[in-house]
Order: sequence, then C-alpha cells, then structure tokens
Amino acid sequence: MELDELYTDLILEYSQSNTHRKPLIRPNYKMRGVNPSCGDNIELELNVENGMIKEVGLLGNGCAISQASAAMMAELIEGKTVEEAKQFAKTFIGMIQKTVTDEEALEVLEEARAFQNISNMPARVKCAVLSWHTLEEALEKEE
Ligand SMILES: [Zn+2]
Repeated sequence: MELDELYTDLILEYSQSNTHRKPLIRPNYKMRGVNPSCGDNIELELNVENGMIKEVGLLGNGCAISQASAAMMAELIEGKTVEEAKQFAKTFIGMIQKTVTDEEALEVLEEARAFQNISNMPARVKCAVLSWHTLEEALEKEE
C-alpha cells in the first residue's frame, strides 16, 4: 500500500524544510537518535524554560521520511509545554502502532498525521518514529 499522493508531497516538502535546521546556542536538552537500518540520524536540541519548549534545533540527515517527520515534530512542539510534547509523542507512536485510532485524538498531530499509513510500510516505520523516540529520550533528562 502506497502513501496518499497529497501526503507524499507534504512529506517531501517538509523533508526539505530548514525552519529548525540549526544548532541552538545553549540547549538544555539534547539527544541523538539513530536508525541504523536506514542510516538516519537526528540531533535534537531544545531550549526549555519554565516547562515550555521555547526553541527547537534539528541537525542530522537521512531519508525524506525521517527528516520530514523530525521537521513536523519540531514545528508541532515549539511553543508547547514539555507535558504536551510528551503527549504528542505518545499519540504519534500510538498512531503508527495503530493503538491510537480515534480521529479526534489524532487531530492534535496536525500535519504529522501524514504518516498515519506508514504502518503499512514496515520498513519505513523506524524512519517515521525516530525523531519522536529521540524527543521522548531527550525529555527524560536535562543537560
Ligand atoms: Zn529512513
């Protein structure tokens, strides 16, 4: 099963996004994530102040799916609280694992819902969830 054409365009567009593609000056959360099966790597940096994610920096490289997923995640979590970001990660991973299927619950993911059908392409699942797992790990401990 293929991804929807509209979603394919969205994924390509985001994979080339430079909005968050910069190192932060003094990130207080930092985590590197790798997906050896595809060669994707993500370096996620966050500036968190009073429980709020003020700024997101993304470095790394890899396939379009991994980079687009990271870019969408960055857009979604910037300006949100740490608790909200953790909830988004749970929802996204749940969507991929098909444990979260409720349309209303998935609405919060906005454009990241483009990855919903990726669960039909098992080889690409790790690419799509890489940044979200990296986010969960990053938020476990402050630098
Ligand atoms: Zn990949």
